[in-house]
Amino acid sequence: MRVTIIYPCVGRIPGEEYIRSWQMEPLPSAYLSALVPEDMDVRFYDDRMESIPYNEQTDLVLISVETYTAKRAYQIASEYHRRGVRVFMGGYHATLLTDEVLQYADAVVVGEGEESVPVLMADFKANRLKRIYSSSGANGLKTVSPDRRIFSGKRYLDIGLIEVTRGCRSHCEFCSITAFHRGKHSHRRIEMLMKEIDTLKSSKKLFFFVDDNFTADVTFAKEFCRALIPLHIKWVGQASITLALDGEMMSLMRASGCQGVLIGFESLNPQNLKAMNKRFNYTNIKYEEAIQRLNAYTLRLYATFVFGYDYDVIDDFKRTLDFCVQHKIFMAAFNHLTPFPGTPVYEKLEKEGRLLYKKWWLDDRYRYGEVPFKTVIAPDVIKKECVKARKSFYGVPSIAKRMFNRSNCGNLLMFNAYWFINFLLRKEAEQRIDYPLGDLSFKGDLITVRDKERENVLVA
Ligand code: SF4
Repeated sequence: MRVTIIYPCVGRIPGEEYIRSWQMEPLPSAYLSALVPEDMDVRFYDDRMESIPYNEQTDLVLISVETYTAKRAYQIASEYHRRGVRVFMGGYHATLLTDEVLQYADAVVVGEGEESVPVLMADFKANRLKRIYSSSGANGLKTVSPDRRIFSGKRYLDIGLIEVTRGCRSHCEFCSITAFHRGKHSHRRIEMLMKEIDTLKSSKKLFFFVDDNFTADVTFAKEFCRALIPLHIKWVGQASITLALDGEMMSLMRASGCQGVLIGFESLNPQNLKAMNKRFNYTNIKYEEAIQRLNAYTLRLYATFVFGYDYDVIDDFKRTLDFCVQHKIFMAAFNHLTPFPGTPVYEKLEKEGRLLYKKWWLDDRYRYGEVPFKTVIAPDVIKKECVKARKSFYGVPSIAKRMFNRSNCGNLLMFNAYWFINFLLRKEAEQRIDYPLGDLSFKGDLITVRDKERENVLVA
């Protein structure tokens, strides 16, 4: 029996190359592969870098769906529906918008897949499929390691992705992670992690701990960093600003090889932070002080900002940009607020009648980088100002100015890495803008499971 795992791309413009920085190893697909029984043959296709051989024999297809890839996932499912192949979907979008995904998938895995996917596989073999497979809430993260054999022969960025912990205990209103995990946070066993990192160590120069908030459980994070020290690896991760309050945590991160950390600064305006339920960004520590402390531990900072909250004024774009340049931040992101379905901010905007599309992620008119809701500043102005801030931040004068931070360019190796990364992001400041969701070469309508049941869409 053969299982085909597909990782969908965000979209595609025929004849154009896909955006390189979006091509990291897709960890969800490796987890799916690990959950397929040993007696089943697994094929894996990464839609971002190769074409999908729809006519290759397969018994079923597994797709992990995110909001940005939903339209493309449904296009891929349509191709398989045409061929009478069963398609199963899971992931964030499938959990937060199960009714929608059920239209395009023969069955949907809701929540974490570690418990449900093996049940789905067994039901498929026994021909007793249900429409929804839900997790009981048991923590699968503790039992399964990703099967990276599926990545062999594919050209990914040379970064080892590892999931150390899952979820977050905070409740920022725009965050789909906390909506998916319902504010829960869990971690893997240290021995399991050490084994996984040790196996990859010789082939990866850098590890990315993909956890959304690496320090959500500080006691565990410290224990993990202590265990990492003898491995002599280099890694980057994501944390919240409260990290800067804990000298021991920063010291252990540095000693364990941490090169830099992404922190959601989100806004310089406390009123916005309050609205997004992210008070902890200003109640514990001032941004300036946090940056100083991170610099003291040579933890390079990737600060991310969102625009489109109601207290933003037009000058905030320039103010935020100046702040990042003045404080010589290594990398920064200037993005608009994205209302992901299933999050409190989406529900609020929907209730207030401010959404510009019924479902922006499926609308043919919608393009990446567009602000899909009404706010105080006009949506197209937010879009334009975000691009302007990115271009200016990754412009040569800004890069040159930010270079004079011991954290950013402390030695020749870092000097080279700093310029390389900043130039890469400079190239992409505009590249993603107006990118379509879904493959523009897809013709016809999406095919639903109901269409397939009517059997009037099957190809011979
Ligand atoms: S701290 Fe980060 S991961 Fe946690 S809820 Fe807020 S945005 Fe999401």
